[in-house]
Amino acid sequence: MTAATVTLADIIDWWIEVHCACGRSADVPVRMLAQRHGPSSRLPPFVARLRCQVCGAKPLTVDLVDNPQAGAPGTGYAAQVRRPVA
Ligand SMILES: [Zn+2]
Repeated sequence: MTAATVTLADIIDWWIEVHCACGRSADVPVRMLAQRHGPSSRLPPFVARLRCQVCGAKPLTVDLVDNPQAGAPGTGYAAQVRRPVA
């Protein structure tokens, strides 16, 4: 799996963590993107369109995380997709 070919379905339980040079950061659940745009959509077009909600700049860094920062918008949603171990 490479970044160029990964689809949203491949990373459905992950989050996209975005940091801007202005200090703003945001965590976006991939599951939410898949519901809006379809699970076969590819990740790079979304990353290319990301803009900071505060200053409008392109993100400084974009990371995939399996557990977003505490207090991130939608954190409760992540708890709903937690998988049982046994
Ligand atoms: Zn910014």
